[in-house]
Amino acid sequence: MSTKLHVYNSLTKQVEPFESLVKGKATIYHCGPTVYKRQHLGNMRRFLFADFLRRGLEFAGYEVREITNITDVGHLTQDELDAGEDKLAAEARKQKVTPQDIAKREIKQFQVDLQTLNIQPSHKYPRATHHIKEMQDLIAELIAKQQAYQTKTGIYFAVTSFPQYGKLSGNTLEDLQAGKRIAIRNDKKHPADFALWVFDDQALQKWDSPWGTGYPGWHIECSAMSMAYLPTPIDIHTGGVDNKFPHHENEIAQSEAATGRPFVRYWLHNELLKVAGQKLAKRAGEQLTLDTLSERGFSPLAFRLLVFGAHYRQRLDFSWEALAAAQENLNNLERLARRLGEILPSTDEAVARADADSQAVDDFATALANDLNTPQALAVVNSYLSSTNQKLESAEMSKSEAAVTWATLLTFDRVLGLFGPLLTKIGADRIPPEIKQLAEQREQARSENNFAEADRLRVEIEQAGFTVEDTNTGPRLIKKAGNS
Ligand SMILES: [Zn+2]
Repeated sequence: MSTKLHVYNSLTKQVEPFESLVKGKATIYHCGPTVYKRQHLGNMRRFLFADFLRRGLEFAGYEVREITNITDVGHLTQDELDAGEDKLAAEARKQKVTPQDIAKREIKQFQVDLQTLNIQPSHKYPRATHHIKEMQDLIAELIAKQQAYQTKTGIYFAVTSFPQYGKLSGNTLEDLQAGKRIAIRNDKKHPADFALWVFDDQALQKWDSPWGTGYPGWHIECSAMSMAYLPTPIDIHTGGVDNKFPHHENEIAQSEAATGRPFVRYWLHNELLKVAGQKLAKRAGEQLTLDTLSERGFSPLAFRLLVFGAHYRQRLDFSWEALAAAQENLNNLERLARRLGEILPSTDEAVARADADSQAVDDFATALANDLNTPQALAVVNSYLSSTNQKLESAEMSKSEAAVTWATLLTFDRVLGLFGPLLTKIGADRIPPEIKQLAEQREQARSENNFAEADRLRVEIEQAGFTVEDTNTGPRLIKKAGNS
């Protein structure tokens, strides 16, 4: 475990040793979902990358504080042009409901999707609409420093006031001036100037401000929310490569202009998921979500494994064949866990006491330390699994060998995140229906804050020879050792 963690920093365009601001602690900000519709598989690849990164840092010994924001206003339908309509407002009009209804529904769905993929919850999911004050304070600061100006349509950041503009994306102001990428809105001083505050007193979601009624620009939201919850400079800021420009370039400009300090130390960007070479979000017709996978008989965890098997900086070409291969690997994992469980349950005390195979764990750690090389880490896991399979087939595996094997697999699983849910599934298969029912009643009692009843049910479950553990994927029932 001596290998130093290295990451590819999009800002310096090289792989660098990771040094956190505070030794032993790491802060991460992920650009979260715009909650106007169900997140598709391309979005979920991003959140899986975020999960592998957070778990990888924890695996390397860091105490991590992780924030994922929720964009529920201000993200325009043509954000790259700083134009268009608010995505939630557009969807709300289409569905004849309020933007708040859309946000409520999609935030709930997003949390379900994260849980389905066994993604660890972030420490906070701040919502843009709950942080308008922080955004306005930041805008006021930029106006005071003459780095933002007011026109009849809104407040704009003046890109020419920030000489380092373009340092992340490589876009120069000259290119942007000449290029046709950015539509020239006639009241902007430079075509790349971007809205911090949009005046619109007819908007479905609007707030008063010292300058006029309206709503915030998308970019200022992430600056305000990241700085509200994390000290600057933030260690790591992530997003998809499509967020680099203009979103992250603009975040850097307005944050560093306002505070006079570096905003982020390491920028990490994941490549996109493509279907037949097309960006998933722009694919006409079929929108792939976790439901599409289930409908076709795949486990969402097969998707987790598929993403783990591709390096985050490599484009991932989604195909049903590739997913089927991942599903087959997942089935193999499940079979192996069942066979191993017949020798020794994973919950046996001997497993907690056993030392993991240090060579395998070192190789796994080395792979992750190398810019989160998950395909290499998966190769280590697969090679360990195949030697375990050989032992299971060729000879009797002793209980102590099984304990070491479990300890090793559960160590991998701190990042892989597959065995936890698989063991829950396997355990659930062996649990009698009356015990499952007691556990469901206990969940119900807990959701109603009836803790006395929940405790009573827990005792009843215990007396029947089972324990119930609350994990981040929900309650897990385990048969107590020695009970037959
Ligand atoms: Zn963002």
